[in-house]
Amino acid sequence: MIIVMKNQATDKQIDEVIRWIESLGFKAHPSRGVERTIIGVIGDEREKEGLKQAEFLEGVEKTIPILKPYKLASRESHQGNTVISVGAVKIGGPEFVVMAGPCAVESEEQLLESAYIAKKGGAQILRGGAYKPRTSPYSFQGMEEEGLKLLDQVRLKTGIPVVTEVVNAADVDLVESYADILQIGARNVQNFPLLKAVGRSRKPVLLKRGMMTTIEELLMSAEYILAAGNPHVMLCERGIRTFETATRNTLDISAVPVLKNLTHLPVIVDPSHAAGQWKYVVPLARAAVAVGADGLLVEMHPEPEKAVCDGAQSLKPEKFYQMMDEIRTLSAAIRH
Ligand code: PEP
Ligand code: MN
Repeated sequence: MIIVMKNQATDKQIDEVIRWIESLGFKAHPSRGVERTIIGVIGDEREKEGLKQAEFLEGVEKTIPILKPYKLASRESHQGNTVISVGAVKIGGPEFVVMAGPCAVESEEQLLESAYIAKKGGAQILRGGAYKPRTSPYSFQGMEEEGLKLLDQVRLKTGIPVVTEVVNAADVDLVESYADILQIGARNVQNFPLLKAVGRSRKPVLLKRGMMTTIEELLMSAEYILAAGNPHVMLCERGIRTFETATRNTLDISAVPVLKNLTHLPVIVDPSHAAGQWKYVVPLARAAVAVGADGLLVEMHPEPEKAVCDGAQSLKPEKFYQMMDEIRTLSAAIRH
């Protein structure tokens, strides 16, 4: 349910409504807009009858039920778009944000070189996995904590913030002590203990759509993180499994406008894991800008032929620079 405050409601009245919600055992999620404040009320659905009394409290205009099952992720419960700050970078605002780098952290040299290329091309965030959830137990599993330390060193040396994946609820404290953004990978989109654990973190979360999840299921996964107290969630479309085999996955480009319509959370596109081949990455990146995504998560490697993971879909530096030039031109035309 949403409690809509009158536009002249005072801070004291808002605080009193929040205290009243909490006294009934619900959580209050206020969203302060330019005109008025609305308060999302979240809790056990079966107990919500008593909440109607809110209309008798001072400063309250009306109560409205939230019809969508994803209450906090829904546009109904939040005014405007969520903009996530990572240092000076703003995700979900007017600027199109690019997160680029290798699939996996491999060495200090490889990561530092990637950071220089990312910065030179104009990307705002460096990506790199220290924990790699691989289909085969015999594939490289990531450098783990050593990889996190390299990410930390490179970010201190170059000033670029980093996004890296966490695969296990027990590792969230460790990963968040090094990372600027916590990535939840496609395979963990419905790992509920992990979603709750990142929901307790203060760090922003990049939540990837699973290869078999619907848009509504993705939003319900985001809801787990939001309900656990972390409002800084961005969603990532990275391709879903279809009957098509010409690409690794099928980029569901329509998920972008659908998500933008349903939720206030930023939407990022990962063309690399969708395509599986570098030659399709740049055209899909263009499509992401054109369709209204807030940013891109893209794999780039100083020497893709030597990459230990996902080399075939990683852009060479020159291709990456070309993509960044095209993105700048397109987003200047589209995003005013
Ligand atoms: C990755 O970003 O390298 C990754 C493992 O992606 P996904 O979870 O989308 O497969
Ligand atoms: Mn990868």
